[in-house]
Amino acid sequence: KYNLSKKALGISPSLTLEITAKAQELKRQGVDIIGFGAGEPDYNTPENISCEAIKAIKEGQTRYTATSGIPELKAAICRKLLEDNSLSYEPKNILVSNGAKHSLFNAFSAILNPGDEVIVPVPYWVSYPEFVKLADGVPVFLETKESNGFKYDIEELKKAITPKTKAIILNSPSNPTGAVYDAEDLAAIAKLAVEKGIFVVSDEIYEKLIYEGEHRSIASFGDDIKDLTIVINGMSKAYAMTGWRIGYAAAHEDIIKVMTNVQSHATSNPNSIAQYASVEALNGSQDEIEKMRQSFEQRRNYMVEKINSIEGLSCIAPKGAFYIMANISALKGKTVDGMKLETSLDVAALFLEKANVAIVPGVAFGADDFIRLSYATSLENIEEGLKRIEVVLKK
Ligand code: PLP
Repeated sequence: KYNLSKKALGISPSLTLEITAKAQELKRQGVDIIGFGAGEPDYNTPENISCEAIKAIKEGQTRYTATSGIPELKAAICRKLLEDNSLSYEPKNILVSNGAKHSLFNAFSAILNPGDEVIVPVPYWVSYPEFVKLADGVPVFLETKESNGFKYDIEELKKAITPKTKAIILNSPSNPTGAVYDAEDLAAIAKLAVEKGIFVVSDEIYEKLIYEGEHRSIASFGDDIKDLTIVINGMSKAYAMTGWRIGYAAAHEDIIKVMTNVQSHATSNPNSIAQYASVEALNGSQDEIEKMRQSFEQRRNYMVEKINSIEGLSCIAPKGAFYIMANISALKGKTVDGMKLETSLDVAALFLEKANVAIVPGVAFGADDFIRLSYATSLENIEEGLKRIEVVLKK
């Protein structure tokens, strides 16, 4: 009916949000659904953080702030980056935004010209290709293998680089695969990026949720790579603060300046109250986040073992984040409970319709041989959900 923007029409809806909405709708209708779709911790924001927000409201911290964020928060972020990641930045290197998603959007808007290529790991987090397209760039998909822990193969990465390559997306720990890059991997990618003069957009939002290995920021591998890296992080996953919408970027000031200009017209400053709460999140006690990490680890261990005991499913143990990519290739071509399984969407439909279990089909992440199950839900739900899947797959 309308002559709408071709660029905007080319943007896919977020399949993960759609599936969550579908499962919620069924729940509302009274269907007993077990959801493995969640992209957020199932915990409430720790009390000390919420209290700071209430205090900020009472003290009248309810006006516009500087576009790039309040000085207290930028100072807390600089301290965190130095202590946790050995990264020395000044407040001029920091831009606080409305969630890490917004930080990523600003980053691609700042670095891309029409036709610039960005290397995106497959399986990818659903928003990466769309950010690139929104900024007139071209996503170049680079397959990673389950047998390589879903990490980039450095030789293949080299081959994927063309004269048009502007940036590489690095997401460690990864959504949806749980991949965590070790120091050796990061050093190799850093060397390559520096040699070719390519930006690295390093999405480190799951940094605090690691079960094997340790988190290292690629920006810490030398001044040359630091100048080419845009570090992205935020409050959502580590502090159970998804609804507060605070994320941040750290990079060379020339990049941050342009990102800040973009943000100043799009949204101005991020929410003032949430910024004060975030200062407490970063500077206050970190005990709660360690408790959350431990319970995620317990669920992960149970889930990996159980999935590998179910015929037709298998998975590698994710090293971080809170998702499992279960391999469903053994189910393809089979008929289960009267439903023919040819794609990950068919498997998702089978589980939803015949087992009342919601998962995300791998096609959403460009990987149709997989489904993603989130373990940001109680152990009780995980046990029940996997039992239902086991029962239906025996049919
Ligand atoms: N990056 C990854 C890999 C994610 O999974 C998410 C959330 O799902 C985000 C960034 C965005 O988080 P937020 O915008 O809530 O900070």
